[in-house]
Formats: sequence, structure tokens, C-alpha cells
Amino acid sequence: MVKEAIIINSNNLDARDNQQINGVSIYSWLKGQIKPYLSTIGDTDQCICGVINQNLVMSLQIHNTDFNDSFKYALVAHEFFHVYQMYLSNGFEQDIFWLIEGQAATIESLYLKEFLNDSNYIRNFLNKGSTSFDEGIQNIQYYESYDGFNSVFELYGDITIFMNLSLAKILQDQGKTEKESFKIIFEDFWKSNPNRDNWKTKFSEIFNLELNEFYQKLNDYKDSPENLIPIISLSQIFSD
Ligand SMILES: [Zn+2]
Repeated sequence: MVKEAIIINSNNLDARDNQQINGVSIYSWLKGQIKPYLSTIGDTDQCICGVINQNLVMSLQIHNTDFNDSFKYALVAHEFFHVYQMYLSNGFEQDIFWLIEGQAATIESLYLKEFLNDSNYIRNFLNKGSTSFDEGIQNIQYYESYDGFNSVFELYGDITIFMNLSLAKILQDQGKTEKESFKIIFEDFWKSNPNRDNWKTKFSEIFNLELNEFYQKLNDYKDSPENLIPIISLSQIFSD
């Protein structure tokens, strides 16, 4: 059952197959129900999953249990940030998991922290009890793609928020403010229009740091990941 179908106007996003994009069609349904638009959009769960009638399609499958907790809000913040990433980078021609998904997960965590007073959500991602940061870093290349992530997620956990927050700390060590650091990560990197072939070069240009050097530096933060929780709020990062 379609629970909502709303259109958000956003000007001239140019995403996916060089099609002109005029907006985002958002639809949501309860997991277990028949998926809406199955024949047109396909078997989706939670994603920005294609283009129909020049609108990006945002699918939001909601679990029964999500109605009782704040995840449903986190999900919208997460998917909305993917639209922003695509908008800034003129679409996606790469699938760098830790940058795409790690950032969206960081955004959803900061959203819950600020707007729903839920600080445990982000803390859980930085919990050494459930995530093997050390082994994750040793197998870091897996976090560069969706397939790679899926193959190691159950072994080491999701270290992608940790990676983005570490990057923010490193930028602050370079002399940037906390706000500037997050703007570089959340905006400047995507504006550089990274693709499969050039993203490592773009990374080193935008962050003033070689990718391998960054991966090494993650070791400086793995012992106290909870210290990476930002002081700045989500609204402060994006305020003018
Ligand atoms: Zn996502």
C-alpha cells in the first residue's frame, strides 16, 4: 500500500544517465505489503532507485517496528542526503560505498542527535564492542564498494561513519574549522564530480591527503572512536 506520494521540487538535478531531472518522487510502504510500482521501478527497499518521468525515485520501505522508533526519520534524512550528493556531483558515476553511504549514515545520525535528542544512535556506530575497527582498517578496500561492504559487513561491522568522522578530524588537524571540514566532506568532494576512474585523485586534491595516507591515519582514531562524535550540529554545518 502506498502510504505517501509526494513530489519535492528541485531544480535541474542532472543525475543518472544524463537525463534531465526535475524533481524527486517519494513513495513509502510497509514491509510485508505488496511493493508499489514493482513493474515500473523494480524490487527496491530503501534507495534512490532510478528515474521515472524525469523524477528521481526515492523508495522508503518502512518496517513495522520503525513506526515506534526514530529510524523512520533517520531514513528520510539519509535518502534526502543521497539526492543532495547526486545533485552536487551531477549524478553518480562511481559506487564508493564508504563515502556515499558512510556520509548518509553520518547525516542520519546527526539528524537524530539534533532533532530527536538521540545521541546513542551515533554512539552505537562507534562502539568497539560490536564493530572491529582494527580489522576493518586492515581490510579497508572492501569498504570502497557496495559488493565489498556486503562481503565484510558481518565480519567487521560498519566502519564507514568512523571513516568520515576521522576524515573530519584530520581536516581539523590541517587547520580547518569543524564546520569547514564537514562542508569539504559533504559538499566539496561531490562538487569535484568524482567518478570510478578519478576519485582517488579527486580525493587527494580535495582533502589534501593521499588516500593511502588517510587509510593509515585511521589507526590513530581506532582506539577511541567515540571521541570522533562531532561537537557541531547538523544545522550548524549547513547554515550560512
Ligand atoms: Zn544509502
